[in-house]
Amino acid sequence: MNEEEDLRMKFMQGRPKDLTVDQKFRLIIRLLREEFPPEYPVKVRRYPREIMKRGGYSYKDAPWGSCSLVNAETPKSEDKRYFLIQLNKTATWNRVFDTLLHEWAHALTWHRENKDHGDLFARSLGSIYRAFIED
Ligand SMILES: [Zn+2]
Repeated sequence: MNEEEDLRMKFMQGRPKDLTVDQKFRLIIRLLREEFPPEYPVKVRRYPREIMKRGGYSYKDAPWGSCSLVNAETPKSEDKRYFLIQLNKTATWNRVFDTLLHEWAHALTWHRENKDHGDLFARSLGSIYRAFIED
C-alpha cells in the first residue's frame, strides 16, 4: 500500500487523529477533486489572517474563508479560469474543515442559482458533508 492509500484508509476508517493537519488537509482536497469536481480547477490556499486582510480580502464579511472564480472577466480567459478558495489558516482544524467544504460547495454551484446559499448550495454541501462522515 503506498503512502497516499494508507492515509486515505486511515481517514476513511475514522482515524484522522493518526494524521497531521497537513496530511488531512491534502487528503481532503484530493478526495474533493476526485468526488466533487467543479466546472473549473480549484486552487486552495491557506493564509494567516493578516495576509488575507491585506490581499483585498474582506475579512469582516468572510472571516474564515472565501471562494472566487479567477479570470472570469472575458470569454477569452475561459481556459485560464480556476476557483480560488482562500482559508484562514489561524482557525481551528474543525473550522478550517467546515469552511473548506462550504467554499467547495460554492465552487460546485457557482452562478447556478440566484442566492449565494440557496437550495442547490445546501444540497451540494449536504452531499459533500455526507461523503466525509461515516454514519
Ligand atoms: Zn458561503
